[in-house]
Amino acid sequence: MKLYNTLTRQKEDFIPLEENKVKMYVCGPTVYDFIHIGNARPYVVFDTIRRYFEYKGYDVNYVQNFTDVDDKIINRANNEGVDAKVIADRYIEEALKDAKALNVKEPTYAPRVTQEIKEIIEMIQTLIEQKNAYEVDGTVFFDTVSFKEYGKLSGKKLDELEIGSRIKLDEAKKNETDFVLWKPKKEGEIAWQSPWGEGRPGWHIECSVMAKKYLGEEIDIHAGGEDLIFPHHENEIAQSECCNHKTFAKYWLHNGFINIENEKMSKSKGNFFTVRDIAKEVPYDVIRFFILCGHYRAPINFSREAMEASKKSLDRVKNCVNNLNHLINNAKVENITEEEKKLNIFKNINNYKNTFEEEMENDFNTSNAITCIFEIVRLINSTVNDNSSKEFLQMLLNEIISLCNVLGILYETEQNNNTINEKEIEELIAKRQEAKKNKDYKLADEIRDSLKLKGIILRDTSAGVVWSIE
Ligand code: AMP
Ligand code: ZN
Repeated sequence: MKLYNTLTRQKEDFIPLEENKVKMYVCGPTVYDFIHIGNARPYVVFDTIRRYFEYKGYDVNYVQNFTDVDDKIINRANNEGVDAKVIADRYIEEALKDAKALNVKEPTYAPRVTQEIKEIIEMIQTLIEQKNAYEVDGTVFFDTVSFKEYGKLSGKKLDELEIGSRIKLDEAKKNETDFVLWKPKKEGEIAWQSPWGEGRPGWHIECSVMAKKYLGEEIDIHAGGEDLIFPHHENEIAQSECCNHKTFAKYWLHNGFINIENEKMSKSKGNFFTVRDIAKEVPYDVIRFFILCGHYRAPINFSREAMEASKKSLDRVKNCVNNLNHLINNAKVENITEEEKKLNIFKNINNYKNTFEEEMENDFNTSNAITCIFEIVRLINSTVNDNSSKEFLQMLLNEIISLCNVLGILYETEQNNNTINEKEIEELIAKRQEAKKNKDYKLADEIRDSLKLKGIILRDTSAGVVWSIE
């Protein structure tokens, strides 16, 4: 299995630290509002990567944190006149609802900063003792010059970073690139006791601490959006490697941005759509599918048209599954027949399955893997009919479902998701027959067209109306 490692800037073979195990840490959201579809991207892509490892038999220990103390949370709390905890708890709950609706598996651990303060203080103490950090009036800074490899992830050179910004040098810091590990309490802010006075942790330290506590000093994969490469992940490496004297993460994976009109979607720019709002227009499974239609490192543009196109594509898969279920329920023959055994379909499906795996093992190319699923849908639709045996149909159904499950794209959403089931199709056909009888051809055509939009084709035959999947 090959994956692109941001650290080495190349695709590498995946070799786990421990046989058959994957230790994976994904940076989670800062919880001061509903998550937008950009934030949903790391949720969905790294969940899919986890699912693929599990499909290949790996035991995955998956940790994703919540940043539940931060300036933005505190600002919002002050605006609403409530404690920061009220805001954080509210948006953790909402993020969990969205993640579940997007079929994201629960992490093995989902730690929160405010519950890890003791360990955070301990790591900062170690860094101070080892002269990798220093305190100035209640603020603790990490000394980036003390870590010779600073800049190795982002490819930035320390001198370049410093020279450009020397003029703005913060008086308290020794070097411009030094960053805060602990900051003193300001009036009205949530704070904890520490050896440096009351205060709270800086942002970067939490992930070094949580990764160590829940996964150990060395992990296989560390992931997040590409905006985290610098400074967040660069700083995590500095903290962890100075503290533990071990390579922190073997592979660094970063997803590309979801853009709107070629600009990164972000809360601060105001050009964002929350997952919750998009889900009012299309079902959650379509949002997941939309995200997986692009390669995880490539940028994707969000638009209503793209979302509609994803919906239509996913409906083709769902309709194939619904059709198989319908045929299974009405099959006249139980066991697979000799003719069915002679068909090439299983061999052809197997070829596509192999390609699916090859694509996934080439840095998780979900986009091409989805193309394989469509090829299988096409094969199934053109092979099955009313005379197919139950066993044969069931075998095909299992094939398509198992591949969809690897990507997590076929699941029950709570919404009325507009895909049509066979009962609804039969009802609409009856309504159309009724309309024709009453010479209401306009209504009859409308019904036929609305079914066509969902990929259902009606044929008027001497034996009555027959429907099939487009
Ligand atoms: P934040 O809450 O800003 O810390 O973001 C949570 C996660 O979402 C991080 O992994 C970010 O890199 C990622 N992220 C934020 N905006 C986008 C975007 N527009 N496209 C893709 N990923 C994003
Ligand atoms: Zn992080």
